[in-house]
Parts: sequence; structure tokens; C-alpha cells
Amino acid sequence: MTGRGVRLVLLGPPGVGKGTQGRLLSALYGIPQIGTGDIFRTAVKERTPMGVVAKTYMDAGKLVPDDVTIGLVEERLAAADTANGFILDGFPRTAQQATALDAMMHRRGVPLDAVIEIVVDPAEVVRRLTGRRLCAVCQTPYHVESAPSRLPGVCDKCGGPLILRPDDDEATVVTRVAEYQRKTAPLTDYYRAAGLLRVVDGNADVETVFGRIRAALGEPVRPGA
Ligand SMILES: [Zn+2]
Repeated sequence: MTGRGVRLVLLGPPGVGKGTQGRLLSALYGIPQIGTGDIFRTAVKERTPMGVVAKTYMDAGKLVPDDVTIGLVEERLAAADTANGFILDGFPRTAQQATALDAMMHRRGVPLDAVIEIVVDPAEVVRRLTGRRLCAVCQTPYHVESAPSRLPGVCDKCGGPLILRPDDDEATVVTRVAEYQRKTAPLTDYYRAAGLLRVVDGNADVETVFGRIRAALGEPVRPGA
């Protein structure tokens, strides 16, 4: 996939490794990885037209409506760095947003190339998320299994205490994963019907999963590459 660029959407529940895989795809294709949180923060900070609108809702403690979110994404996708494509992470979240994204891409004459859904066994997601730890002092992330500190519960860098974020508490994780599946099922149905959905098994290490994503995108995967 080259020439006219690569336009991708990444889907998957929390803890599935979307951030990591998105960074690898970003490096592979030389295109930006665009998360919804970054879009909001940048638009508000730079006081873009949609950023100003979004801020009025945020300041009032209200949920930013769908059309404003869509407007923020459209502003972001008009930036020069997306000329060769992008990887969207965290948008769309609903079938309505997906329809809006389609319309946006249609106006620009550059349709989406693929929607990658990384799927992982729910038990594995729980294992990954509940094992995360964060230094309370310097915010360095750890994982009790995959990236442990040298001394249990103590930060390698600053000696601060490692904490479990409230979001990573087991009951909260189970709720988040169930909520994700309930909310995004219509979205995956939508993209499956459009012929864009590529489901990738994420129950493996980072390199293996990345290889599967490349294969799903029709990229030649060379051994050791
Ligand atoms: Zn620390």
C-alpha cells in the first residue's frame, strides 16, 4: 500500500496494544497516529474554530456532542501531515461517526483503506491491564509480568512507590471491556459490511501481532523484517 497513501482505523478494547501497534504502523508508512485525546487537547490549545466550540462544552462540564467531535476530526484530517494518510485511534466510536468519516473521506476523494480490529481474549485483557503499575512520583509505567521493576513495588528510576491506577482495578477493567464490546459491535458490523474490516488475533507478542497486521494489509512480510 503506497502511492496515494494509507488511511487506517484501529479498533480494539483497552489493553489490546493499539497504541504500540499504531506506533509501528506510523513508522512503517510514515503517517501520523491520531488519537482522539490528542485531537481534543491540540484543538483546544491552538484555539481552532472547532476547538473553541468544544471548549465551551468542556468548561460547562458537558459531554462534547457528536457533531463537534466529528468537526474536530475533520479539522485534524485537513492538516498537512495527513497528505500521505493517517492511523485513527479512538475514532470512530459509533456507527454514526463512521458514516460521518466516510462522508469526509468521500469529499476528499480518499477512502479508508482498512479498519483493523485487534481482538484479544477478555481474560488476557484483564491480565494485561490489572498487571499495569505506575510510579506515583515520575509516572514511569511498569507491568508486573511483561515489564517489572527490579524491586517489586519500587520505581527503578526514582525509587517512588508503584501504584495500580483505579482504571486498572479488575472490576473496572471487566466493566470497561464489556462496555467496549457493547458499544463497538455495531461499528465492526458496519465496517464488515463495507468490506473494510480486518480482524487480527492479538493474543501474541508485539512483533507477532504486527506481522499479522501487515499480512492483513497485504504487506509482504519478510522473515526478520
Ligand atoms: Zn519513578
